[in-house]
Amino acid sequence: MIVTSCRSSFEFQSLAFSSLGSGSKGNGTLISHAGTQVLVDCGFTLKETERRLSRLDVSPEKLSAIFVTHEHSDHINGVGPLARKYGIPVYLTAGTWHTGRIGEVPRVELIPGHGSIQLGELIISPVAVPHDAREPVQYIFQGGGKTLGVLTDLGSLTQQVTDHYADCDALVLEANHCPVMLDNGPYPESLKQRVGSDWGHLSNQQAAAFLKTLVKPLKHLVLAHLSEQNNSPAKVEQVLKAQIQKAENVLFACQHQGFNWLSI
Ligand SMILES: [Zn+2]
Ligand SMILES: [Zn+2]
Repeated sequence: MIVTSCRSSFEFQSLAFSSLGSGSKGNGTLISHAGTQVLVDCGFTLKETERRLSRLDVSPEKLSAIFVTHEHSDHINGVGPLARKYGIPVYLTAGTWHTGRIGEVPRVELIPGHGSIQLGELIISPVAVPHDAREPVQYIFQGGGKTLGVLTDLGSLTQQVTDHYADCDALVLEANHCPVMLDNGPYPESLKQRVGSDWGHLSNQQAAAFLKTLVKPLKHLVLAHLSEQNNSPAKVEQVLKAQIQKAENVLFACQHQGFNWLSI
């Protein structure tokens, strides 16, 4: 297992990524390539976001864009305040924008559910996912010949998802719950059904099935958006054992720390 981690994001010419935190209490993923830095989602308060960005040596003024996946509060709480304070453009689908939940932002860029956007030398491709939001997407990033997939907040694996993510060199992948723990856990019945549905979140078994569809071994596999009540790293490792062995570097994105910069 090799951990390639670096102090400053500005040292990266290659494609690199890190996280402000991951889970139902707030999400945010940073991607950096050849001087372009973007943030995917921001589910923390402004103050907390600034604190977490500085932990990763990122100045908010240097962010080229915020890409939003969908309107759930763990992904958008800090988007409006951060975009307004630092004048950052916000990229999102028309469906997400029309929920009205982002509030005012200095510049809105509506993205299609497919096709690519280029910022500097970074190419960003949205992929539509099945999740209980208005028009949710997840994103694939390409730069310097490498591909990073960010894939959380989806209830099932569609052909479109497996086709688009097949070539990834690194992946931030949801392993949200253990179905048995969810079933026996503290959630009300309606929430159990929502989380476990085709429009909810990926179970450990679904994450394992997805990893089997990848065409090449991963340099980095980050397991993310784990439920604190309905999952544990030990459960994930047990179910994903065969897939984990094939990746060069495997880690968990945690709610409080996210994870430090990884270079692909
Ligand atoms: Zn979420
Ligand atoms: Zn969600």
